[in-house]
Amino acid sequence: MKAWRDECGVFGIWNHPEASRMTYLGLYAIQHRGQESAGIVTLDAQGDHIHAKGLGLVADIFKESSLNRLKGQSAVGHVRYSTTGHNYLTNAQPLTARLFNGPIAIAHNGNIVNASVIREDLKAQGAIFQGTNDTEVLLHLLARHSSNHIETCLQDALKQIQGAYSFTLLTHDKLVAARDPMGFRPLVMGRLKGENGTDSFVFASETCAFDLIGAELIREVEPGEIITVDKDGMRSASIGVIVEKPAQCIFEHVYFARPDSIVFGHSVYQSRKEFGRILARENSVEADIVVPVPDSGVPSALGYSEESGIPFELGIIRNHYVGRTFIEPKQSIRSFGVKVKLNPQAEVLKGKRVVVIDDSLVRGTTSKKIIQLVRQYGAKEVHLRIAAPPTVGPCYYGVDTPSKKELIASHQSIEEIKNYVGADSLSYLSVEGLAGAFGSQSKCRDSGFCAACFGEDYPTELFDSTKD
Ligand code: AMP
Repeated sequence: MKAWRDECGVFGIWNHPEASRMTYLGLYAIQHRGQESAGIVTLDAQGDHIHAKGLGLVADIFKESSLNRLKGQSAVGHVRYSTTGHNYLTNAQPLTARLFNGPIAIAHNGNIVNASVIREDLKAQGAIFQGTNDTEVLLHLLARHSSNHIETCLQDALKQIQGAYSFTLLTHDKLVAARDPMGFRPLVMGRLKGENGTDSFVFASETCAFDLIGAELIREVEPGEIITVDKDGMRSASIGVIVEKPAQCIFEHVYFARPDSIVFGHSVYQSRKEFGRILARENSVEADIVVPVPDSGVPSALGYSEESGIPFELGIIRNHYVGRTFIEPKQSIRSFGVKVKLNPQAEVLKGKRVVVIDDSLVRGTTSKKIIQLVRQYGAKEVHLRIAAPPTVGPCYYGVDTPSKKELIASHQSIEEIKNYVGADSLSYLSVEGLAGAFGSQSKCRDSGFCAACFGEDYPTELFDSTKD
């Protein structure tokens, strides 16, 4: 079975008079983590759950009327993204079920690497699965547990699961947040001060969600931690799996997270700028202007420009209103696909030696088109600088990357990639430089990061070969 490789965002709130609206806003802030479907589940005064899920963007799915229907003081929410085309509503989250002691809803970010093994085992024992996503496995493991105690159920279930998970979970009387022992994906806890002196606990994939709703960041949910919130307050427990080092996803800093978030204790904006500074030190070039591929390359281009002294220019302008599909003209327009989103400025580029900065290079197809355009609009030289090392390994922990054979750097040299994308020169940030941006002298893995996409040193066993 093909594993789901979803990028997602989660949210959770306990004890707020406008729980569904806060969740809506929280999801709105982390919309970049998933645009395919979204869902909110609230806990009403009777201990029952109310659900609303849909395909599309948060603002399109939830209307005033649906938020009014989502009554209750506590909620969990989810945004989901998958480029595989299977955007079925059954895979939209939070996943919900009724277990013997009440309703349960799970919003999961990450990818359980041994899900297919557990799934086959459970199916052989008669379990029925609704969708194709890995989170359902966790639901089944919880359903089979005889304890009334959710922490105990989770500890036992999570010990059987390997891979990446940060989730928020709602029962009939509790909100739970948990992060896998390696802490692959981010998850933060915050507090929202209430007008009547009662505080609400909030959880989100990224701190930018707290900024929008006015919540204060308390701390990260620690790798391997289960935090439970209920009428008696907040408690922390350990999953009970000891790992040598965390493996926090460095790609969150490279591309995935919003630059205004604090992820794994570091400002994403600052780390991207630092990638750019180090990139400039490692790979200097004589040039007239530094131009980012917007928006992902902007902070690194600022860092590159500061460090090299080469002026920063917005030589490519992005249309922010591009959806995922658009109607193409019947007659061909040169470079139409990329120009819908990115339009170079001839006034800025003409006759210039240009350093183009992007956050990452995956297949190389985007860079190839951008370089063609930049040349077409008059650039004299185009030097491509990538603010990350070559992407050589697919991600099995929740970032949607193509299969290994589609990753250009897995089978082509830097010189070959340079020729393919049509640049005058091409350099990447070194793996040491990537870790160095966080003040570390050691390798990414030794510094508590997972950088398997840049070095194939996967921190867990892999059970899924669909990305070879
Ligand atoms: P490519 O044409 O495959 O080389 O795509 C590279 C571009 O895709 C870069 O501009 C990145 O900002 C962006 N990118 C990198 N990783 C991802 C991802 N997992 N999902 C979506 N976009 C990505």
